[in-house]
Amino acid sequence: MKVTIEDGCIACGACESICDAVFTVDDVATVNEAEVSNNEDCVKEAAESCPVSVIKVEE
Ligand code: SF4
Repeated sequence: MKVTIEDGCIACGACESICDAVFTVDDVATVNEAEVSNNEDCVKEAAESCPVSVIKVEE
């Protein structure tokens, strides 16, 4: 699974709240790629919960 953050993150913190092993939010969200494979369920949940839909998940 490949996870990217497109431009437009508003740093709301939702993704980090849902899946903090993978997402870290400072000025914008960033992805810890090393943890994606261990956390696919919460990555998907975070992507669905992002209010501006900038988390892109490729299977
Ligand atoms: S949920 Fe979306 S808008 Fe909110 S911090 Fe994460 S990537 Fe940014």
